[in-house]
Amino acid sequence: MISIAVDGPSGAGKSTLSRRLAAELGYIYVDTGAMYRTIGLFALRKGADLDSETELAALLPEICLEMRYVDGVQHMFLNGEDVSGLIRTQEVSMAASRISAHPAVRAFLLETQRGLARENNVLMDGRDIGTVVLPNAQIKIFLTASAQERARRRYEELAARGEKDSFEQVLADVRQRDYNDTHRAAAPLCAAQDAVTIDTTGYDFEQSFQKMLEVIRRAQKQEG
Ligand code: C5P
Repeated sequence: MISIAVDGPSGAGKSTLSRRLAAELGYIYVDTGAMYRTIGLFALRKGADLDSETELAALLPEICLEMRYVDGVQHMFLNGEDVSGLIRTQEVSMAASRISAHPAVRAFLLETQRGLARENNVLMDGRDIGTVVLPNAQIKIFLTASAQERARRRYEELAARGEKDSFEQVLADVRQRDYNDTHRAAAPLCAAQDAVTIDTTGYDFEQSFQKMLEVIRRAQKQEG
């Protein structure tokens, strides 16, 4: 089986690019951020203290996560409910960032993620895929862009959906999430030593896509 790991900070365009790349290559796309978001949503609904690992660990056995394909599009199901749209709000983004700091939460998802890679050719995106989840992935990409640029993209995405956060708020959230993701003790965000870093600041979608495809094709040639 072949695994491609794509890591990077929030708003670097990982999900959209990864989804397209996986389709192009005929691989399964695994959005691990969506899994953390779903746990974040569940914890918010339960009114749990997002910073309490004990409280969250007690909730985990109540959670059944499933990725299912509906008309060719990946959807997240939480205990049978399609939450794909609900997990995309700013509130859930921040909750995901906080609950993902707890080793118990990470351990809960680790086996699911590895299991998917054992049984399928996968393109998996997240924060710790190349470093922790799939350290033996054949291809690793670290996708990044400046905080300003990532906030601008996120702002436009939210505005298109009618969410009225100010640009300053979105930028502050991006910075806060960067800080949370890189400073946590458990599986902090960082590029794997053998990852190829791609900075998409100033690139549009198509340019970023072509750049990633080039890196993947080159690595596939070297693998023989
Ligand atoms: O990628 P996305 O923005 O959907 O991820 C939501 C949050 O989940 C991130 O801010 C990060 O804290 C967490 N996450 C993680 N490890 C992953 C994927 C996401 O900690 N592999």
